[in-house]
Amino acid sequence: MSKFDYDLITIGAGSGGVRASRMASQTGARVAVVEESRVGGTCVMRGCVPKKLLVYASQFAHGFSDAKGFGWSVGETKLDWPQLIATKNAELDRLEGIYGRILRENNVDHLDGRGVVKDAHTVEVNGKTYTTEKILIATGGWPHLPDIPGIEHAITSNEALDLEEFPERIVIVGGGYIAVEFAGLFNSMGADVTIIIRAGNILRGFDEDIRDTLAQEMEKAGITINRECVVRSIEKEGDGYSVRMHGTETISCDQVFYATGRAPNTKGLGLEEAGVELTPKGAVVVDEYFQTAVPSIFALGDVIDRIQLTPVAINEGMAFVDTQFKNTPRPMDYDNIPAAVFSQPPVGTVGLMEAEARAIAKEKGGDVDIYMSRFRPMKHTLSGRDSHAMMKLIVDRESQIVVGCHMVGDDAPEIVQGFGVALKCGATKQQFDATVGIHPTAAEEFVTMRDKLPDHDEDV
Ligand code: NDP
Repeated sequence: MSKFDYDLITIGAGSGGVRASRMASQTGARVAVVEESRVGGTCVMRGCVPKKLLVYASQFAHGFSDAKGFGWSVGETKLDWPQLIATKNAELDRLEGIYGRILRENNVDHLDGRGVVKDAHTVEVNGKTYTTEKILIATGGWPHLPDIPGIEHAITSNEALDLEEFPERIVIVGGGYIAVEFAGLFNSMGADVTIIIRAGNILRGFDEDIRDTLAQEMEKAGITINRECVVRSIEKEGDGYSVRMHGTETISCDQVFYATGRAPNTKGLGLEEAGVELTPKGAVVVDEYFQTAVPSIFALGDVIDRIQLTPVAINEGMAFVDTQFKNTPRPMDYDNIPAAVFSQPPVGTVGLMEAEARAIAKEKGGDVDIYMSRFRPMKHTLSGRDSHAMMKLIVDRESQIVVGCHMVGDDAPEIVQGFGVALKCGATKQQFDATVGIHPTAAEEFVTMRDKLPDHDEDV
C-alpha cells in the first residue's frame, strides 16, 4: 500500500490535465484533479470551442450575401447577439458535464478549489492537504496585458466571448491568433473593426505569404489594420472608449480588446517555494519528459509555454503518462505540428515556413523549391465575393521532401489536417504529384501544382 493518498494529483482540469489524469487512472493509478474554475479549461470554456461557435455564427452573414448570386432572395436578416451567447453558454454547460463525467467514469477524483503545492509530495486544496507520489502542473495560461494608462477598460478573449451587448465599433490590439480570429468574426457580424499592431504585419511566426494574403483579405473584407502603431492610453468616452495612439491620433469605439499574448498561470501555486524553476516569463521549466527541477513534480501544456495549442497539451499528457505510468518513456514529438487560425478566410499550416526552410537548406549547401497557387474559389465566381485563396508548398530541393504546406482560404484547416499526415510521413513532391486530385475542390491544388516559382523570386 502506497504511503501517499494518491499516485498523481493534477492541478488544472484543462485539455492537458484531464487527458493525463484519465490516461494515468486507466493504468490503475489513483488520481485526483484539482480545479478552481470550470472543468474543461481554456479551450472548452474560454477559447477554441466558444470562439469556433461564434465563428460559425458569423459565417451565416457570408452565406446570406453569397446566396443572391446563386438565385436566392434572402429577406431581412438580423443577429440576436444575446440569444447567440445564451445558446453558446448552454453548449458549454453540456460540455462541462461531459468532462465531469469523463473524470468520474475514469475514477479520477475531482477536488474543487485552488490547488497549492506545499512540498514535493503535498498539495493543499481549500485548507485540506493531500499527499501524492507525483504532482502534475497543468494550469494553462491567462491573457497578458501591457501596463498602460486605462488598461483596466480593456477586455480580453475571456470577456469578448460573453459580452452582453454586441460591440458596433471595436478596437483589437495585437495581431496574433486571437486578434485575427475575433476581428474576423466581429467584422462578419457587422461590427466596425480596427486592429492595432506594433509590427509591420499580422501573425508573426507564420509564412510571409500567409501573412500578406490574410492581411489583404481581411482589409478587403473591411477590417482596418493600423500597422507599426502603439497604444498610449485608453480613456472612457461617453458609453465607449477613446484609444490614444502615439502621436495625436485617437480612435473612438465601444470596446477595446487586448489580444497581446498569454502568460503561464504559475503565480501563487507554491512552485518556487517547492524548488520548481520558472522562466522570467513565469513558465515552468521542464525537461523533455516534462519533469521539473523537483523530480516528483511535472508540468505540461500552456504553463510550460512551448506551443500553446490544445492538441499539443493532450499529446504532451499522453507522452507523460507513457513515461511515468506505462514504463514506456518517450518525449513529445514536436515536428510538423499542424495549426489553424480561424480567421476569415481561415489559415491552415504545417511544417516550415519558407524563410526557415531556406535557412536550414542553405546551411547544408542546398535550397528550397517553392510552389504557389493563388485563385478565386469556384464558389465566388457566382457569389461575386471578392475573396481569394492561396496555397503554397515548400520542398527541400535536394531530397524533394515537402517540408512546408500552407493555405489561406475556405476550409484550409480541414484540408491541411490531412496533408499533415503526408508531411509526418516525409512525403516527397513526386508523391504529392502522383496523388490523384479530387475534382472540383480547392484541396486538389496541393497535388496539381507543377511549376515552381523562379529562383530569383525566392530571395526577396
Ligand atoms: P500571440 O502570441 O499569437 O499574439 C500576440 C500578439 O500581440 C502579437 O501580434 C504581438 O505582436 C502582440 N503584442 C504582444 N505584446 C504586445 C504589446 N505589449 N503591445 C502591443 N502588441 C503586443 O497571442 P494571442 O493572444 O493571439 O494567442 C495566444 C496563444 O493562444 C497563441 O499563441 C496560440 O498558441 C493560442 N491560440 C491558438 C488558436 C488556434 O489554434 N486557432 C486560437 C487562439 C489562440 P508582435 O507580433 O509584434 O510580437
